[in-house]
Amino acid sequence: MTPTRPSTAVSGVAKRTVLISGASISGPALAYWLARSGCAVTVVEKAGALRGGGYPIDIRGTATEVVRRMGLLPRLRDAHIDARRGTFLDADGGVVASLDLRAVTGSAGGQDLEVRRGDLAEALHAVVRDDVEFLFGDSVDTLDQSGSGVDVTFRSGGRRTFDLVIGADGMHSWTRTSSFGPETRFHRHLGYCFAIFTMPNTFGLSRELMMWNTPGKAAALYAVGDDDELHAFLTFHQPQPPLEALRDPDARRDLVARTFAGAGWRIPALVDAMRDAEDLFVDTAGQIRMPSWSSGRVALVGDAAYAPSFLTGQGSSLALAGAYMLAHSLAAHRDHTAAFAAYERDLRAFVAMNQALVDNGAATLFPTTARALEQRNARLRGLVTMPPTAARPGPTTPPRWEPRRRVLPSTGRQDPAAGFPPGGCGGARTTACTTNQPSG
Ligand SMILES: Cc1cc2nc3c(=O)[nH]c(=O)nc-3n(C[C@H](O)[C@H](O)[C@H](O)COP(=O)(O)OP(=O)(O)OC[C@H]3O[C@@H](n4cnc5c(N)ncnc54)[C@H](O)[C@@H]3O)c2cc1C
Repeated sequence: MTPTRPSTAVSGVAKRTVLISGASISGPALAYWLARSGCAVTVVEKAGALRGGGYPIDIRGTATEVVRRMGLLPRLRDAHIDARRGTFLDADGGVVASLDLRAVTGSAGGQDLEVRRGDLAEALHAVVRDDVEFLFGDSVDTLDQSGSGVDVTFRSGGRRTFDLVIGADGMHSWTRTSSFGPETRFHRHLGYCFAIFTMPNTFGLSRELMMWNTPGKAAALYAVGDDDELHAFLTFHQPQPPLEALRDPDARRDLVARTFAGAGWRIPALVDAMRDAEDLFVDTAGQIRMPSWSSGRVALVGDAAYAPSFLTGQGSSLALAGAYMLAHSLAAHRDHTAAFAAYERDLRAFVAMNQALVDNGAATLFPTTARALEQRNARLRGLVTMPPTAARPGPTTPPRWEPRRRVLPSTGRQDPAAGFPPGGCGGARTTACTTNQPSG
């Protein structure tokens, strides 16, 4: 059977056809910007429907500007979690520090947002669903670049040809494995495992975070509203990734339960809830670091290309900024090789800066030694008395945003993003953001 090529002719100019694999954050964001620049976009998602709910994620700095340009700020402000209090506990549940989170977490002029991952995914989907073809419950089976495009076969049996295929399929990207090689080549293990799940709010928490620590182990409970559910998070130091255990659902539960056996406070109740949880997700904390994000007509975006890990709190922001930058490069260059090169050239330093947060101390929420834990606790106690403006600033160099061409070649329309960057706040966790200007 000859693969079908979508009809793409508009005003005699062939529309570029793009298949995006993955409909979480980077996929729909990229689809939006590509559709705006005149591409015919298809998004394939292996889940049967958009995945809602989920743990809280942050949208910071440059990414806030991306969602603003998508018209999503009002909706996301409504969804903003606005957690008020963070309480840190010692091994027995004694309070180490209790902080006003709004005063100490840092925000670029109060613009940063924290929303449920699913709320962001739904908002992104809502602004693009009418302009883009979504194929839920399907995935790519094979990719063949030997012709003039990418011949794709889908698990459901269909065959089609696209000009480009973009993997937005997350940390364990199939697109990356199939076109670039096994994950082990690009995965940097950061020495932690984590388990996330929801559990009943038997703690009576409301709009607050509670975190318990002992050396090498931590538990966090996050009440995102006045819900009767909590987002629970157990993390532990694991120098080598427990690959065998991660492959088997029962072994995953056993690993977490074994690690936290005998722990104090209400950890036994958390472990029981973890055992019962239907949405349990266990993984290693890791980063994806690749020498190149494209191979021929296939490229990667978001966690698939440069996952920074939850320890940085920057994954969603990078996914949004990266999607914007990739779409921008494709709009500016008809030749995909030049576009992918521009995407990498303009985004790499920003990715490196955000990934380096784990080396620069962003992981200190989860100290692995008694001494490091005591030092962290001392810092937390210091924050209780520190004035709000003294909170820690983050990296300040934004990616190179300036468009090389202001008019989109495929449409002749004015580039909706021309003039991007944001007014000076590009970095991660930008608390004091007054001097950093775009470099591009
Ligand atoms: C516990 C935890 C806490 C986090 N906290 C934060 C935070 O505070 N701030 C922050 O910015 N980030 C945080 N992150 C990271 C953030 O969730 C990711 O970095 C971000 O979602 C990346 O988006 P993505 O779209 O690139 O990938 P993903 O969100 O991983 O989405 C990948 C999508 O591809 C789909 N898919 C996978 N394989 C296939 C396939 N073969 N075919 C089709 N579809 C496929 C998946 O179903 C999924 O929908 C956290 C992550 C975790 C796990």
